[in-house]
Amino acid sequence: MRYIDHHAHMASRTTDDYANMALTGCVAVTEPAFWAGWDRSTPEGFEDYFRQLMEFEPKRAAAAGIQHYTWLGMNPKESDNREISIEVLKRIPKLLEGPTVIGIGEIGLNRVTKNEITTYTEQVELAATLGQMVLIHTPHLEDKLKGTRITIDVLRDFPSLPPGRVLVDHAEEHTIEAILEGGYWAGLTLYPQTKVSAARAVDIIEKYGPERILVAGACDWGPSDPLAVPRFIAEMRRRRHDEALIHRVVFENPFRFLSQSPKFRLPAGVAEAAAAQAG
Ligand SMILES: [Zn+2]
Repeated sequence: MRYIDHHAHMASRTTDDYANMALTGCVAVTEPAFWAGWDRSTPEGFEDYFRQLMEFEPKRAAAAGIQHYTWLGMNPKESDNREISIEVLKRIPKLLEGPTVIGIGEIGLNRVTKNEITTYTEQVELAATLGQMVLIHTPHLEDKLKGTRITIDVLRDFPSLPPGRVLVDHAEEHTIEAILEGGYWAGLTLYPQTKVSAARAVDIIEKYGPERILVAGACDWGPSDPLAVPRFIAEMRRRRHDEALIHRVVFENPFRFLSQSPKFRLPAGVAEAAAAQAG
């Protein structure tokens, strides 16, 4: 079954990972800018990373037959550094003009500090002003509920940013209702060890239905799985969900959300072929 992975940090993965994703049906990925595992020391360091996402990764993906798009922004972890965040944010508007850049992300909160909230608010304001789509990271573990609440409170302060153009990612059982009620898209990111498993994601779909819910692997440099979406598909099939519902979650939903950016395109016939295949 064809699928789109909307949250994949491919810069941290090998070319073999691209090939395996393509073999399991992946036709497109979107890659949010994030923390590299170490703090960058200059705004230029961020620009170099953004160039990797805009120039090198689309080529590597294309060689495997996958379309690659990116989200640019100041990641939650390093957004605590106000000095560097201010400089990076000045450079974002120009970079957003890139042909494969579909919005601002992943932005949001990590430890829910005052600095992080300030940088996050500035980036939401930038998205509202520039009419950009947004991909938001919500904090993991004990800060998730509090962080998600603050994330949504800030979004409400910018009514010119339509909720349907905002994806609140890393949703879990205790945060998904608030996200969906706000009119936002909710992302479930699947991890092999911690956080949401394929089985928990299927439980969530069974409880809330497929409307405005996306699933992704969120693979990065840590323990993670570039084939998490196919494993979700396998779990859906094991529980005998019909192919049309599975297709809705792994292909139609991300396609509908991402196509709000006029830059997001699949090769001619891919969407139609995927629909015919799902029957
Ligand atoms: Zn991420």
